[in-house]
Amino acid sequence: MSTCTHLDQIEHVELPAEVAGCEECLASGDRWVHLRMCQTCGHIGCCDSSPNRHATAHFQSTGHPVVRSAEPGEDWSWCYADELMFRLRPG
Ligand SMILES: [Zn+2]
Ligand SMILES: [Zn+2]
Ligand SMILES: [Zn+2]
Repeated sequence: MSTCTHLDQIEHVELPAEVAGCEECLASGDRWVHLRMCQTCGHIGCCDSSPNRHATAHFQSTGHPVVRSAEPGEDWSWCYADELMFRLRPG
């Protein structure tokens, strides 16, 4: 069983009280499908089902490896570097 080796880069575990949307899409007037939060810096970006894939673009430009879902009721995390899905807290 593999484990994410980037847990020491996680600074943001909980979502902010209000998630307005993908930061880049809001700036450009584009649409998104689902939202992801960078767990290193708190950046909100859109998922790979969205036209602009800003969460992936954020990883590629910054190297911040771990995002979590910013969707209501979802608490899974995804490491781009390890290509691994996991939960930070069980349950
Ligand atoms: Zn990792
Ligand atoms: Zn976006
Ligand atoms: Zn980040």
